[in-house]
Amino acid sequence: MILNIDDLSVSYGEVAALRGVSLGVEEGSIVSVIGPNGAGKSTLANTVTGFRPYGGSVTYDGTEVSSVDASDLVADGLIHCTEDRDLFGYMSVEDNLELGAYRHGDGEAERLEYVYDVFPTLEQRKNQNARTMSGGEQQMLAIGRALMGDPELLILDEPTLGLAPVILEDISEAIEEIRADGVTVLLCEQNVTFAMNHADHIYLLENGRIEKDGTPDDLRGDDYIRDAYLGG
Ligand code: ATP
Repeated sequence: MILNIDDLSVSYGEVAALRGVSLGVEEGSIVSVIGPNGAGKSTLANTVTGFRPYGGSVTYDGTEVSSVDASDLVADGLIHCTEDRDLFGYMSVEDNLELGAYRHGDGEAERLEYVYDVFPTLEQRKNQNARTMSGGEQQMLAIGRALMGDPELLILDEPTLGLAPVILEDISEAIEEIRADGVTVLLCEQNVTFAMNHADHIYLLENGRIEKDGTPDDLRGDDYIRDAYLGG
């Protein structure tokens, strides 16, 4: 397992956001965490990349994440594309991308070529300010910048949020291209159909607890998932 989470608990003051969460991500796979608003998906993503104190255990490549600096995790290929995207709006697309490659030095030009291959739109828009891009283009840019960091484990937090179906197609294709290149993906998603289209294994998070897990086929056959998440 490239990522192993065992009995994880995270609180915001009195509010318990994650309770006894255990899950594993095998190298080369796509694992998705699904669940409604407030279930704790972003908290989980933020904890794995070192932004939250926690109880229990979270190991990346065998190392407890709380025992190292977040910047070392990035250097070791743990890259997080946050729900907020965190783009630099007054900088160009290409400058935003280059910021994602700060640990690469000489490899930057190659990474840029790779990202432009995954998202040709970004090359066409490379001189445009990030804030003037559409929501879908900004999402591509956020994922592209994460790819500039040469991830081994890429955490994507709600990459489909608010996107039109035609853009979902682009993001879908990109995720499969990223998988084909050997990158492991942890996909936090509210769009259950999208998660099922890509994930090898899915965990359902509700109210800070894992309530179910299985392959997409297992979960498609589950009455509760069908009724609550797939519209019956
Ligand atoms: P969404 O998809 O709506 O972002 P989520 O599944 O990612 O939801 P989280 O954002 O992780 O869920 O939130 C989990 C719980 O923790 C919620 O009850 C939320 O209100 C609470 N929470 C999240 N961030 C904070 C914070 N900074 N301070 C206090 N409570 C927080």
